[in-house]
Amino acid sequence: MADVELRNVTKRFGKTIAVDNVSFKVYDKEFFVLLGPSGSGKTTTLRIIAGLEDPDEGDVLIYGKVVNDVPPHKRDIAMVFQNYALYPHMTVYKNLSFPLENMGLSKTEIDRRVKAVAEMLHISHLLDRKPSQLSGGEQQRVALGRALVRRPSVFLMDEPLSNLDAKLRVYMRAQLKRMQKELGITTIYVTHDQAEAMTMGDRIAVMNKGKIMQIGRPYDLYNKPANLFVAGFIGSPPMNFFDAAFKVVNNEYILDAGEFTLKLDKEIGRIILEKLGETDVIVGIRPEHIDIVNEKEENTIEAEVYVIEPLGAQTVIDVKIGDYIFKILMKGQLEYRIGEKILIRPQINRIHIFKNGKTII
Ligand code: ATP
Repeated sequence: MADVELRNVTKRFGKTIAVDNVSFKVYDKEFFVLLGPSGSGKTTTLRIIAGLEDPDEGDVLIYGKVVNDVPPHKRDIAMVFQNYALYPHMTVYKNLSFPLENMGLSKTEIDRRVKAVAEMLHISHLLDRKPSQLSGGEQQRVALGRALVRRPSVFLMDEPLSNLDAKLRVYMRAQLKRMQKELGITTIYVTHDQAEAMTMGDRIAVMNKGKIMQIGRPYDLYNKPANLFVAGFIGSPPMNFFDAAFKVVNNEYILDAGEFTLKLDKEIGRIILEKLGETDVIVGIRPEHIDIVNEKEENTIEAEVYVIEPLGAQTVIDVKIGDYIFKILMKGQLEYRIGEKILIRPQINRIHIFKNGKTII
């Protein structure tokens, strides 16, 4: 059982609080992702788990034991960082087999493991080359392979796919996820890419400014973001936001955004009224939860086509409503003229309401 736990971990660099009272538990065999923008404290958190940084406060536990004083090489952890370092004078084969030679494995077993990992990472044809004869992406895969052949209990990865081209990155995501499940290695994976986090993670911890904003399964974060930050960070294209006044007018629950108003279902309206009373709120609606309609009806909004972004099977249409630009994600290949007036309608039961950064509904 290789579970990893952080309890109230804080790390400061001078005046910067890189990691601010962070607690989470990663379960045995879990693929756990630390997701957040640049500077949110992901790498520092990972380095603390690895033993490369000492926390100022709090404890790191592996297998339920506090390891604060255990040196990195005794933590049974393997790491792949953005700046991977391969042994330059050794071939790829030797780079992969070297970590196994000190483990007392037979030559046949070493050869079997090296070849299996090489095949999985599509580097079998590179085994005789030296690192200087490899592209950045190939070097990155060798670095991954070198960590994997050891079959550690815990695997820490910091943006290990960042040097790969888009196609290879998407391929490697699936490979890594599959491999992690096959080998059953408890994995903590750092990325700033929400799509990568969503596709790979069993659970994701979203970080901002050193703090954990929410921990949950990918669809929990997507469906029920705990706050404005997570709502805006998870999902692509990102959620649309606008300011509105929540009011009750003639027994109807209304969001008045100035340029347009939306009428809420009674159930939702009552919940907001109970929680907040009549007040200013931020409203969020995902691009995939806005429809384009032909006729004016309840909750339609007049909008002007601003830009069209074809994706292939889907089309993103940016529309202008007053000062706001909303993104709409539609299935199919749609053709609109820039400047064309269209009618859009948010799916009213899919809206999110935020007050002071917190999710209300
Ligand atoms: P990125 O995605 O850009 O790698 P991150 O989320 O991994 O960012 P960290 O590298 O953990 O973020 O950095 C968190 C904060 O701590 C940042 O403000 C960073 O400038 C600061 N920081 C990190 N390492 C040090 C250090 N050795 N000395 C001083 N400040 C540091």
